[in-house]
Amino acid sequence: MIRLTAYILLALTIALSASWFASNSGQVSIVWQEWEVRFSVAVLISLLIIYTAFLWLSVWIMRKLNIFAYFSNPKRLAARRAKGEKNLDQAWSSYALGDYKESIKFGLRARSTLGEGGDVLRLLASATRKQSNDENPYLDQLKTSLVSAPWVLTQELDRSLKKQAWPSAMLLVQDMLKSYPKNRLLLTLNVSLSAQLGNWQAAKEGLGKVIKEKGTLKPAEQKHLSAVIDYCLALEEKAAGNKHECIGLLKSALKSSPSFAPAAQLGARVYIDQDDQKSAEKLLINIWKKSPNSEIADLLTNLFPREIKGERFKRLKAISMSGPKFSENYHLLADQAILMEQWPDARSALQAVIGSGQASKKTYQSLALLERKQKNDKQASNKLIKKSEIAPPDNHWFCSSCRTSPAHYTAVCQKCDTFDKIIWFRL
Ligand SMILES: [Zn+2]
Repeated sequence: MIRLTAYILLALTIALSASWFASNSGQVSIVWQEWEVRFSVAVLISLLIIYTAFLWLSVWIMRKLNIFAYFSNPKRLAARRAKGEKNLDQAWSSYALGDYKESIKFGLRARSTLGEGGDVLRLLASATRKQSNDENPYLDQLKTSLVSAPWVLTQELDRSLKKQAWPSAMLLVQDMLKSYPKNRLLLTLNVSLSAQLGNWQAAKEGLGKVIKEKGTLKPAEQKHLSAVIDYCLALEEKAAGNKHECIGLLKSALKSSPSFAPAAQLGARVYIDQDDQKSAEKLLINIWKKSPNSEIADLLTNLFPREIKGERFKRLKAISMSGPKFSENYHLLADQAILMEQWPDARSALQAVIGSGQASKKTYQSLALLERKQKNDKQASNKLIKKSEIAPPDNHWFCSSCRTSPAHYTAVCQKCDTFDKIIWFRL
C-alpha cells in the first residue's frame, strides 16, 4: 500500500513537472566553433533521462554477463602481475647489459602493470641516471617517500664518491649519519672522507665512533688506522714546529701499530734534527726488525755523519746480524760489505737473498758489482746485469688503489687521492 502511494506520488510529480515545463518551455543553446544547437529544456531533460537509462542498462548488462568479475578475477590479476614482473626483470637485465634506453622502455611497461612501486621507480631512476639525464623525476619521486629516501641518498653518495667529489660526499654522509648514527658503512666513510679532506682531527673523532660500534672494524684494522691518523696529526705538529707533541703522537702511533714504519721514520728524522742520534737509532733499529724498508736502510746508513767507514760497517753488520730474514736486511749488509771489500760477507748475504726466494733487480745488480770489484770479471758481471733486467722489481711503496709506486709513503695517495692504500710491497 505504501509502495503504491509512493508510485502514485512519483507519477503525479512527473506529470506536474512535465506540464510545468510544457507551459514554461525555456531554450538551451550549445555553441561549438561555428556550430550551434538549440532545443527546449524539456528535450534536455528527456536526453538526460535517456542517458541515465542507458547507463543503468549498461551496468545491468555487464552484471548479467559477469564482466566485473572478469576484471577482478584473481587469475587474471596474477597473470597481469607476472607480466609486469617479467618486464621489470627484462628492464634490470638490459640495465646490467648497459642498454639503458631499453631498460627504461621495459621499466615503463612494468610501471603500467605494477604501478609506481619502489622497485619500478628504483629501476627507472637508476637507468635514467646512467643515461646522464640532468632531470630525474623518478629520483625526485623516491625522495618524497620516507622509506625510499635513504636509497636516493646512497645513489647520490655513490655518484659523489665515483667523481671523487669529497666535500659533497662528506655532506651527504654527515646528513645520513643524523638518521643512521650507527651505520657501519657511513661511520667508516666518515673516517676516510675526513682523511681525504685532510681533516685529521675529525678523522680521529670519527674513528672513535667506529670503535664504539663493535664489529665494524677488526681490532688490527682499528689499531692500524689509529696509527695512520696519529702519524698524520704528528706531521701537522712537526710543520707547526711542535716537536714535543709530534714525538708524543708518533709514540702513540707506534704503540697502536708497532710495525708502522712511517711513524718510526718520521720520529727518527725529528730526533736527528735535534741532534739526538741515539734516540733516532733506537727507533730505527726497533722498526728495522719488524718492517724494514730501503728508506730506513738509508737513515741507518747515514745516521752518524762523522762516523768512519769501518765503524759504520761494524755497526750496520751488527744490526743486520740481529735483523729479520728480509731482503732489505741482506741488501744492507751486502752494500756495506762491498764498500768495505769484505767479499765473503757480501757474497753470503746476496746468496741468502737468492736462497730465500726474494731476489730482485738489486740482488743481481749487487752481485754484478761484486764480480767486477772482487774479480774484475766483466763477462760474469754483464751476465748478472742482464739477469737483473728480467728479475722481479725491488720492494717498494705501492698504492693498491691506482697501482702506482710513489717514492715515499703518504696516508692519502697523491695520484688517486684515496686514503690508506699505500703499503710497502714485498715480494
Ligand atoms: Zn693511488
